[in-house]
Amino acid sequence: MKLEFIPLYEAFEKYEDRCPICKIIEQEEKVYCERLLEDEILKDPEMYIKIGQTNFCRYHLELLNNSYDKLGLAIALKANISYKLQQIEEMSKTLKKKRRKIEKEKCLVCKYLRERDAYHVHILLDILESDKDFVEKHSKGFSNLCFHHLDVLIGLAKNITPQIDKIIELNKSTIEKNINDLEWFITKFDYRFHNEPWYDSKDSIERALKLLGGGYYD
Ligand SMILES: [Zn+2]
Ligand SMILES: [Zn+2]
Repeated sequence: MKLEFIPLYEAFEKYEDRCPICKIIEQEEKVYCERLLEDEILKDPEMYIKIGQTNFCRYHLELLNNSYDKLGLAIALKANISYKLQQIEEMSKTLKKKRRKIEKEKCLVCKYLRERDAYHVHILLDILESDKDFVEKHSKGFSNLCFHHLDVLIGLAKNITPQIDKIIELNKSTIEKNINDLEWFITKFDYRFHNEPWYDSKDSIERALKLLGGGYYD
């Protein structure tokens, strides 16, 4: 097996109740955010400029703030707000002249995660190519792919192979089940159905949120 296949094999092995790609991305997000505040990164001139110029999204600002490394965070924030002050000063100087439209930098962490998404999905496509039983073996994990990763997978696939078709079918039945369970959840609020059992509807909101939870990047 190719070395780069291992993380996806492990993720599909370990996490079948939710999107395995989301699980990998979450781990990488945590590592990247911690790494961003490390001395070695902040002292790297190129990275320091990138951290200064980025526009962290609200979610990643919060995630960075959850870090124990308050020194690293303070250095990163100082670089970031100093650059923003400089931009405001420049803007106010050119205000009376013709104002040029400045392309707003995206959140550094979001940008990284988008690249990682594409990387993992490309590897997954390679796995599907070389291991014809992979979908069959991990049908539960595939049935729980989130909308975002299903979308990336279909978008990056050169053509809809029988395996991808199977993945779409698996997902469709999960989504349809989720819709039916939400429907029953809603029905249960009607007093006439008060004494009816919940069946599988109790966690239907939680499952819908998992389906919608991938790819929140800006
Ligand atoms: Zn996902
Ligand atoms: Zn972000």
